[in-house]
Amino acid sequence: MDRNQQLFERARALIPGGVNSPVRAFRAVGGTPRFVQRAEGAYFWDANGARHIDYIGSWGPMILGHGHPAVVEAVQKAVRDGFSFGAPTEREVELAEEIVKHLPAVEMVRLVSSGTEAAMSAIRLARGATGRSRLIKFEGCYHGHADALLVKAGSGLATFGHPTSAGVPPEVVQHTLVLEYNNVAQLEEAFTRYGNELACVIIEPIAGNMNFVRASVPFMKKLRELCTNHGALLVFDEVMTGFRVALGSAQALYARNIPGFRPDLTVLGKVIGGGMPLAAFGGPRALMEHLAPLGPVYQAGTLSGNPVATACGLATLQQISDPRFFPMLEARTRTLVEGLRGAAEAEGVPFAADHQGGMFGFFLLPQLPANYGEVMKSDAAKFGRLFHGLLDRGIYIAPALYEAGFVSSAHSEDDIAQTVAAAREVFRTLA
Ligand SMILES: *Cc1c(COP(=O)(O)O)cnc(C)c1O
Repeated sequence: MDRNQQLFERARALIPGGVNSPVRAFRAVGGTPRFVQRAEGAYFWDANGARHIDYIGSWGPMILGHGHPAVVEAVQKAVRDGFSFGAPTEREVELAEEIVKHLPAVEMVRLVSSGTEAAMSAIRLARGATGRSRLIKFEGCYHGHADALLVKAGSGLATFGHPTSAGVPPEVVQHTLVLEYNNVAQLEEAFTRYGNELACVIIEPIAGNMNFVRASVPFMKKLRELCTNHGALLVFDEVMTGFRVALGSAQALYARNIPGFRPDLTVLGKVIGGGMPLAAFGGPRALMEHLAPLGPVYQAGTLSGNPVATACGLATLQQISDPRFFPMLEARTRTLVEGLRGAAEAEGVPFAADHQGGMFGFFLLPQLPANYGEVMKSDAAKFGRLFHGLLDRGIYIAPALYEAGFVSSAHSEDDIAQTVAAAREVFRTLA
């Protein structure tokens, strides 16, 4: 009796596709999604009681692994004090202080409940503050499912985007220009044409929604210069990379290579909630003061800054602020990625990988891709076989080749060694 299969059938009768977020349905790889019964540390157990080493970690938030004792305690205490008040609490201030402490670009922050909401609100703020409508996003970057962002490139720079979802009227995306990631020439051309009409450019600095693709330093430097010169705001969507690739997030990595580098607005989520629904956006005081109730840009939320979610996020950030944390996490992630690389090489499978902090990506390609078009040259059938081979061996990676992977501080050397050994067995069948 397969309990995962039974639950999936029950779910499909009631919930579209049986899931509450599409990627969970395993459509890209086929097969039955694993229904999680419980999780602890680096593992979860599915409805059949099978243990999996979890490299998704709720798509990033579980940087301490599941059920870290300090986080569980903070959440339990918060629950006893009340679930939600619709009135301010001290922990919202503490969480804001903790975020601002690590991100020099963020002087003020507004807490919301999801990354989608944070990115959507940051764009509204950018438009409100600049008085402009147009924006640039990059192909392969995901910023949540707000209407204006569900868009693919038109034909050439002269045309703005087309909706990628039914239900999004073309008028709603008419101000969104979609460009190729890491393409400096195209970026320059777009700014020459539209620079003075742009409210903002939104980017995932390390794109985790096309597996793992870094914006190159020259590309980022040019983007920053063009935004500054044309009065457009640079919005860093760090929902995935924030407090995940480094304590100072991806922006700190670019600041190491580009003197004085800062984004104008930063969008956060995932890790800052530690697994609870919590996200944020922030930036300089002068910009953030355009928000209601101080300014004319409206934004609100019944559950924003929820007391249980802020307790969870705060406890998580406190743990990862230990100066030993990121070097340790980075070393674990490197061991995994180097191990996978060695296993692929030994079995003659083309393989390219990259990683930063507790985030990694690998491709069954001879070289790292620089943009979405190159990512999509990956062999999806081969990836599907790798995915299922690993799943059968109790290793749970993202069920789609355009998703990143995540290592937590709960992943032991032994977990990683088991993962590499399993991968080598599967690579052997792929070569
Ligand atoms: C996950 C993600 C979002 C959306 O966050 P949700 O909480 O799922 O709405 C936005 N941007 C990036 C970069 C993300 O990875």
